[in-house]
This record gives sequence, C-alpha cells and structure tokens, in this order.
Amino acid sequence: MTRRKPRLHGLLHGLLRGLGGRIALMCLLAAAPMLVLLLAAAAIERREAVQAAEARALDLARLGSEQQREMVAEIANVLRLLAAGSSLRSAGTAECNTALDLTVKGDPRLVSLDVVGHDGAVLCSSWTDRNLPNIGDRPHVRQALHAAPGDPPATAMIISRITGRPILVEGLPLPPDQPEAPPPGAVVASLNMNWLSRLAARITGPVRHVAMVIDPASGVMLGSSAAWVAPVMATRDPRFTAAFARFPDGGVFTAGDGDGTPMIFGFAPIATDDGALMLAVGLARADVLAQANARIWFGAALALVALLAAIALAWAGARTLVLRPIDALAAAADRFGTGDLAARVPTATGITELLALARAFNRMAERLETRTGELAATQAELAVSEAHHRLLADSATDMITLFGPDFRRRYVSTACRDLLGYAQEELVGNQPGGIVHPDDWLLLDATLNAPLKAGQETARGIYRALRKDGRCIWLESSGRRLADGSGFVVVTRDISERKAFEEQLEAANRRLEELAGQDPLTGLANRRRFDEILAAEHRRARRLALWLSVAIIDADCFKAFNDRYGHPAGDTCLQAVAGAIEGALHRPGDLAARLGGEEFIVLLPDTDVPGAARIAHRIRRAVRDLGIVHAGSEVGIVTVSLGVASTAPDDGSEPPALIAAADRALYAAKRSGRDAVRVGSL
Ligand code: GH3
Ligand code: MG
Ligand code: MG
Repeated sequence: MTRRKPRLHGLLHGLLRGLGGRIALMCLLAAAPMLVLLLAAAAIERREAVQAAEARALDLARLGSEQQREMVAEIANVLRLLAAGSSLRSAGTAECNTALDLTVKGDPRLVSLDVVGHDGAVLCSSWTDRNLPNIGDRPHVRQALHAAPGDPPATAMIISRITGRPILVEGLPLPPDQPEAPPPGAVVASLNMNWLSRLAARITGPVRHVAMVIDPASGVMLGSSAAWVAPVMATRDPRFTAAFARFPDGGVFTAGDGDGTPMIFGFAPIATDDGALMLAVGLARADVLAQANARIWFGAALALVALLAAIALAWAGARTLVLRPIDALAAAADRFGTGDLAARVPTATGITELLALARAFNRMAERLETRTGELAATQAELAVSEAHHRLLADSATDMITLFGPDFRRRYVSTACRDLLGYAQEELVGNQPGGIVHPDDWLLLDATLNAPLKAGQETARGIYRALRKDGRCIWLESSGRRLADGSGFVVVTRDISERKAFEEQLEAANRRLEELAGQDPLTGLANRRRFDEILAAEHRRARRLALWLSVAIIDADCFKAFNDRYGHPAGDTCLQAVAGAIEGALHRPGDLAARLGGEEFIVLLPDTDVPGAARIAHRIRRAVRDLGIVHAGSEVGIVTVSLGVASTAPDDGSEPPALIAAADRALYAAKRSGRDAVRVGSL
C-alpha cells in the first residue's frame, strides 16, 4: 500500500501534466453532481418498486377475495339445483352417486360432492369407490342440516380427511318432504384450492411469490398456491396476526418468510361462515428489488458510458480546440528558436486568451527578423570591407600581424609563408616567442613588446628569427597600438639582406677603424694600437730599466645588463665606463684601450706595482661613482673588476706574459666577488 501510493501519485501527476488530462478531470468533477442525482434516483426507484409491489399484492389479494366470493356463490347455485332435482331423493342409490360424480367431473372447481343424512352419515358421494366416514361433526355440515331453506350456503375451510389437503367446503340443506319438517339431509361440496394457484399465476416475471389463505386469529395457514411452500412457517410470525388485527379490511406489510427472505404481503379478508379468513399474496422483496436494481444498474451503466463518452469527447475536443492552438504557438516558437525567422503563429483562428500571446510573439518575431536582416546586411558590408583589407594585407610582401591585448596572434597575412615558411593557421593563436631567436627574445621584448604594452603608440624591434626550416633570418618589426586598445598591428619585413650589407659595412668600418687604431664605440685606442704601443713601451722600459704595468678592466655582469636594458643602452654604458677609465689616468704616457666587448686595458709606463694598484683602485672607484643603475648586479650599479700586473726592468719577460699575468689577476678579482682589484705576478 505504502509502495503503491507514490506510483498512483506519479500516474495522477503524469495525467494532469497535459491539458487534455486536466480537462478530462474537470469533466469528471462536473459530472459529480450527476452521480449524486443517480444515487438519489436509485433510492427513489427502489422505494417506488417496493410501493408498486405492495399495491400489486394488495390488488391481487382483493381480487382473490372477490373471486372466492363469486365462486362460493356460483357453487351455491349448483348445490341448489342439485338439491331441487330428483336425483338426490333416492339417496344411497347408484343414480345419486352418478349424478354427484358427473357434476364433479363437469366442474373443475369441485373436488367432491356428498349427500349426508340428518345424522351426518354420507348417503351418497362422488367418491363412489370409498367407504366414507360420518361427517356430522363438521361445523359446516351441522350448520347446513339446521338451516332453513333459502338460507345462504354454510362455508368453511377445512383439512380434508380423505386427501389431507386444505379444502373449502360449502353445504346446503336438502328441501324437506313436507313443509315445516326439518331438512332430511344436506348436500355438501368440497372445492379445490386451484383458484389460489390461478391467482398466483397472475403474477408474472421472475419474482418469487405465494398466495395463501390464513386464519387471522391463529396465524395457521389453511391453503397456499403451494408453488412455493416456505411461507408456511412464516405465517406464525406475530407480525401477521398483528397486521390482520390492525387492518381487518385488508392492507400490506413486510415480513420474513420461513427462510428469512423478506416478503411484501398484501392481504384481504375472505368470508366463510366459521369466521373471516385472510387471503395473503406475497412477493419476495429481494426479487422486486432485483428488478429495480437491474433497472438502476442499467441506468448507471448508461450514465457511465455517457460520462466516459463525455470525457473522451472533452479530451479529444481539448486536443483540437485548445491544444492545437497552443501546439501551433509552441511549434512557431520552436521553429523560430531553431533559426526559422519567418515562423509566425496563425491568428485567423484560435483562442481569444492566446491571441494576445500569439500577436505579441508575431510582433517580436517580426522585429527580430528585421533586426537580423539589418545585421546580416551590415555583416555582409563588413565582410566585403574585411575581404578588401585582407586582400591588401595578403598582397603585401611584408607580414602583417594583428595581435590581441594578450599578444596572441589574431590574424597573420599570407606573407608569413614566404617570410617564415609557416602557414597562417600555424601562427594564429600563438605568441611570437616561438619564432624569435632565443638570444634575441629579451631584446625584442624590451624594444617592441614592452613599450607597446606599456602604452607607447609605436615601437620597433630588430631581431633574429628562426624559419620553419631552421634557417636564421633578420627581421624588423614595427608595431602600432590600436586606438581602441583591442591589440596591436605589427608589420614585419625580412632585413637579412640589409643586415648582411650592414655587417659587411661594419666589418669594412671596423677594418678601417682598426687601421686607424681607434675603437669606434668608445673612441679609446683599439687592441691593435695598444699592442703596438705596449711593444714600444716594453722595449723602452727594458732599455731604461723602468717599471711597466698594465691593468685589465672587465665590466661586471655585463651580459645581464645588456639583457635587461638592451644592447644600445649597454653601448652607452660602455662609453661612460671608457670615459671614467680615461679620466682616472693623469700621466700623458698612460694609454687606455678597449680590448673588445666589455674589456678594457690601461698601459701605465714607468709605474711600479703599488702605483699601478693605486690607479686600478682609482678606476674602480671612478666607474662606481658613475652610479649607472644595474638591477641585474648584486650591488645595483655598474662596477668593474681589475687585474693588475707589472714587469720589472730586469725580469726578461715579454709582453704576452704581462698580459697573461694581468688576466689571471682579473680572474682572481672576479672570483673574489667582483668590484675588486687584484695584483698578479709574472
Ligand atoms: P663577468 O662579471 O664575469 O665579467 O660577467 P659578464 O657578463 O660581464 O661577462 P661575459 O664575458 O659572460 O659577457 C660579456 C658580455 O658583454 C657579453 C656581451 O653581452 C657584452 N658585450 C660585449 N661586447 C659588447 C659591446 O660592444 N657592446 C655592448 N653593449 N655589450 C657588449
Ligand atoms: Mg664582464
Ligand atoms: Mg668579459
């Protein structure tokens, strides 16, 4: 039970989810009063059936009573005719017997006829073959023997001593031979109870029934239609005698039969001389009601069929009249939702309440369709204009790249294939790092990406890139910030040829500079010049027995400086360092040169070890005092390390040994933690 409940609930929920189910339920609710009416009608029908049965039972009882009375009168006439005839005068003769027998055979109502003498002995009888007892003790016989001629017949209801069955008896006195003499005997008729059966036979239909003659005083049943004998017992029901006493002229009541089956009885008195008897006609109440019930069930079945038909019709009607317009609305919305912008809800037919919704939907759909049309037109124009721009971009030999604010490529022109060997789709979506030479990435980031990101309008970067085939090329990228801040446009071109030419030019220049003995960046002497002067000074020192010292100067952590601030800034820094070195030399013979990269050397003629060390410290301090910010260094400013070496006039060494000793000292200075001076020995 507990498990069935949710299932029932679910079923009900499922039924009521649809509009059809709800309308069917409404029909059912609307039909509820009809069911009440049906019940009331059933109750009325049953009551009327009982009332009709009561009326019928009473009618039949009265009819039976009437018939009985007529029969008694008719039989009395028969008896009178017999008594007046001559055939009975010779009582005890065969002629008398024959006359009585013929009369009995001629009248189906008669069971027997007897002629009795004044002492009650049977003189002749229709029972020709029997030895009949004296019946002078029977009240009706006694009454008939003592009646005056012309008196009505004496009647009684008795149990036959011969058949043992109830019979109605009737007696008339035989006319006396002489006037004033007592009657010589009486003629007595026994009537059978067939009339009761005939009375009962009037009741048609499948209703159990009975007709009975009852002594109202004792309740003893004297005769019955016998088709159905159970009521014999029931007549002892005190309700019978009570009803008979209360309505002596006839009435109705309901009492049980012998089986306890309630019976509807109608009763009426029948007259006999030994007191009024009651004729009762009973109909089984259950059978009477069964007929009514059958009618009720038939009516209920009809009503149920009508109700089901109404529900089915309502459901079907709801489908066509209510659901179809809603479905149309839903279908249009669905079509619209899946892209059919021309979808509209038909408003010609439909439900008034839904029309407003349908019209609102159609208005919305119309507006959206118009907007979408406009949008499509604008998009088409945009597409054309974009196509033009693409054409321009793709026709250019320079690679045009559109970067998003996150520096990912949004668009790359077709020139990327010639320039880098990559297809457009291989580059779109990526950041530029992948193609830039690792050594140049920080530089490019510092010169191009970072300034643009920081809000600079334009920026430019020159760097090496790696093509897909691995070849290294020089590129120049010019970037511009988009006005709306949505990214950057970068135009990139291959400058490998220009770069090669520049390199050639630089090499030629270097060669010239070298020949000229000057370092182009710092303006100091170059290595070639330094070597020449070192050789000359070395010869002079030996000749004149003078000390000769050198100090090699190397900028600390300079690679980090370049990486962080860019090569041009590095160059500027080197120029400043060169200036500081030169400024620390006071003697005209001192020479500062750039060995290459961030390495310098000073030649100090006629200077001994302490003197050289002093100058080295001066140089170290001079560079420090420049205060060039260098975030990549531990001390935060640009510093130098120095290695000092001196040659005594008599040690016989050559210049390379002097340089090597200074180099070793420089190495030691670097190892000591930089920004230091170390003195080496040969
Ligand atoms: P350390 O303190 O050990 O000397 O470190 P460092 O980075 O200075 O030494 P390293 O020899 O590793 O790097 C020298 C760097 O100097 C390499 C290069 O980036 C830079 N450099 C060399 N020549 C030039 C030049 O002509 N101009 C500029 N701007 N930088 C140069
Ligand atoms: Mg260095
Ligand atoms: Mg170096």
